[in-house]
Amino acid sequence: MISCVICKEGIYKDGSTTVTLERESTIIVVKAVPAMVCTNCGKYILSEEVTEYLMKLLDQAVLHGAAFEMLNYAA
Ligand SMILES: [Zn+2]
Repeated sequence: MISCVICKEGIYKDGSTTVTLERESTIIVVKAVPAMVCTNCGKYILSEEVTEYLMKLLDQAVLHGAAFEMLNYAA
Protein backbone atom coordinates (compact mmCIF):
# COMPACT_ATOMS: atom_id res chain seq x y z
CA MET A 1 0.00 0.00 0.00
CA ILE A 2 1.29 3.44 -0.94
CA SER A 3 0.02 6.51 0.92
CA CYS A 4 -0.88 9.57 -1.09
CA VAL A 5 1.85 12.22 -1.15
CA ILE A 6 -0.69 15.03 -1.57
CA CYS A 7 -3.41 14.46 1.04
CA LYS A 8 -1.57 11.87 3.19
CA GLU A 9 -4.92 10.22 3.90
CA GLY A 10 -5.80 8.21 0.84
CA ILE A 11 -3.98 5.29 -0.72
CA TYR A 12 -3.35 4.63 -4.39
CA LYS A 13 -5.51 2.02 -6.09
CA ASP A 14 -5.66 0.73 -9.67
CA GLY A 15 -8.04 2.84 -11.69
CA SER A 16 -8.19 5.09 -14.69
CA THR A 17 -8.15 8.80 -15.26
CA THR A 18 -8.32 11.49 -17.92
CA VAL A 19 -5.01 13.17 -18.74
CA THR A 20 -4.58 16.54 -20.45
CA LEU A 21 -1.28 17.28 -22.16
CA GLU A 22 -0.10 20.46 -23.78
CA ARG A 23 2.85 21.32 -26.00
CA GLU A 24 3.28 24.50 -28.02
CA SER A 25 -0.18 25.16 -29.50
CA THR A 26 -1.43 21.56 -29.24
CA ILE A 27 -3.62 20.20 -26.47
CA ILE A 28 -4.67 16.57 -26.20
CA VAL A 29 -7.09 14.98 -23.75
CA VAL A 30 -6.71 11.23 -23.29
CA LYS A 31 -9.52 9.31 -21.59
CA ALA A 32 -9.41 5.99 -19.75
CA VAL A 33 -5.69 6.14 -19.01
CA PRO A 34 -4.67 3.35 -16.61
CA ALA A 35 -3.31 4.91 -13.44
CA MET A 36 -2.94 4.52 -9.70
CA VAL A 37 -5.58 6.84 -8.27
CA CYS A 38 -5.81 8.19 -4.69
CA THR A 39 -8.96 6.98 -2.93
CA ASN A 40 -9.28 10.31 -1.12
CA CYS A 41 -8.28 13.23 -3.33
CA GLY A 42 -8.11 11.78 -6.85
CA LYS A 43 -4.40 12.51 -7.36
CA TYR A 44 -3.03 9.96 -9.83
CA ILE A 45 0.31 8.38 -10.67
CA LEU A 46 1.19 7.13 -14.14
CA SER A 47 3.64 4.33 -14.84
CA GLU A 48 6.70 5.04 -16.97
CA GLU A 49 5.25 2.88 -19.76
CA VAL A 50 1.96 4.81 -19.78
CA THR A 51 3.80 8.16 -19.69
CA GLU A 52 5.92 7.15 -22.70
CA TYR A 53 2.81 6.14 -24.65
CA LEU A 54 1.10 9.45 -23.83
CA MET A 55 4.20 11.32 -25.04
CA LYS A 56 3.95 9.41 -28.36
CA LEU A 57 0.29 10.42 -28.71
CA LEU A 58 1.28 14.02 -28.03
CA ASP A 59 4.13 13.81 -30.58
CA GLN A 60 1.67 12.58 -33.22
CA ALA A 61 -0.83 15.34 -32.47
CA VAL A 62 1.93 17.96 -32.73
CA LEU A 63 3.06 16.43 -36.05
CA HIS A 64 -0.52 16.63 -37.38
CA GLY A 65 -0.59 20.25 -36.32
CA ALA A 66 -3.74 19.54 -34.30
CA ALA A 67 -4.90 22.31 -32.00
CA PHE A 68 -7.04 19.98 -29.93
CA GLU A 69 -7.54 16.20 -29.91
CA MET A 70 -9.61 14.00 -27.66
CA LEU A 71 -8.49 10.39 -27.61
CA ASN A 72 -9.12 7.14 -25.81
CA TYR A 73 -6.13 5.36 -24.35
CA ALA A 74 -5.71 2.06 -26.17
CA ALA A 75 -2.95 -0.14 -24.82
ZN1 LIG B 1 -4.71 11.84 -1.91
